[in-house]
Amino acid sequence: MPFNLSPPKSKHDASGVENLIRSMMKKHRTPFMLIRRSVLERQYQRFRKCLPEVTPYYAIKANPHPGIIKTFIKFGASFDVASAAEMKEVLGAGAPPSKIIFANTIKSAEDISFARKRGVRLMTFDNEPELYKLAEHTPGAQVLVRIKVANHGSVVELSLKFGADSDQGMYLLRKAKTLGLVPMGVSFHVGSQSTNVENYLQALEMTAGIFKEARENALALKIVDIGGGFPIQHFDNEVGVNFERMASQIRREIKTLFDKNVKFIAEPGRFLVGPAGVLVTQVMGRTFRNNKNYYYLNDGVYADFSGMVFDHCRYEFKTLRRGQKFLSALAGPTCDSFDTLSLNEEIPELYTGDVIYVKNIGAYSCASATANFNGFAPAKLILV
Ligand SMILES: *Cc1c(COP(=O)(O)O)cnc(C)c1O
Repeated sequence: MPFNLSPPKSKHDASGVENLIRSMMKKHRTPFMLIRRSVLERQYQRFRKCLPEVTPYYAIKANPHPGIIKTFIKFGASFDVASAAEMKEVLGAGAPPSKIIFANTIKSAEDISFARKRGVRLMTFDNEPELYKLAEHTPGAQVLVRIKVANHGSVVELSLKFGADSDQGMYLLRKAKTLGLVPMGVSFHVGSQSTNVENYLQALEMTAGIFKEARENALALKIVDIGGGFPIQHFDNEVGVNFERMASQIRREIKTLFDKNVKFIAEPGRFLVGPAGVLVTQVMGRTFRNNKNYYYLNDGVYADFSGMVFDHCRYEFKTLRRGQKFLSALAGPTCDSFDTLSLNEEIPELYTGDVIYVKNIGAYSCASATANFNGFAPAKLILV
């Protein structure tokens, strides 16, 4: 990962976060995950401001905590769900069904029926057997064909498993129509944590091709779903992530390629919730082995650091202590050597009970934590 050598942008932010951690430590046992509402709002407004033509549907899999869903409902967000259980969560929090997209291209018959009963009409698909299932269980549903697009440079690849070949898009949409469904448009996903804007630009070009073909065949398409993938910084001094620049390029492409009456939606997950999260852990014990300090934390890869496995994520570990730094290793609390977080952190010497915290860890962390492996509970999530 490329780094620049300039100091962190805002020392202010660091001390603000550390003061918040100190005050929360007085009331809560670690590990805990702070989700800052102000940052949820900042990210949501950033998205709205940079892509004003694009309606964001928060992909709740990134972090499905009810408090987060409720917060986004207040901001006026729409939602992307992948199952009946996620749909229940969002509807239960008070979102109207018209603001939900069922964006899993493979859905069970039961989940499809649930969507119909609850009035969720908009969904994605990428294959013909799914169309027959939709036609049977939710006739008249509005469908977007998900096409396979380049995921070059994205940290989490999604096109290996999903997406029809774009030259099949038109055929599948026409098929949807003959089966009594309402073909609405095209969706894609460039892969998660996509720092390469070319993926979006190429996907939009492919989509425009399908829109043109549809027009020529008297099929009026209305919606383009540009998916998720919008990247965030995980490290203070990381370079190469520039949402504002990406968004302006995407916006220009949208304006060049599509008519004004086409509606755009997106499914951001990580971008909206990642920067809001601060995970706070404590050192349970320490030892010296392999010529370095080993610190054992009360949270690990089985719980809130599960993103290191499933999300291929790396984090910046920070301490509340200052002073000379030593090469150190960090490990989780379980009896598995795999539960190792880092073998080469440069951090000050720590003692049992000292804090190690990680910022920008709100997405794909607690969402994929196991419940209680080895008896270690995941972090309590606290909205602040
Ligand atoms: C995971 C996922 C998202 C969210 O992706 P991010 O990279 O977190 O923005 C959106 N849409 C679909 C279909 C997904 O599978």
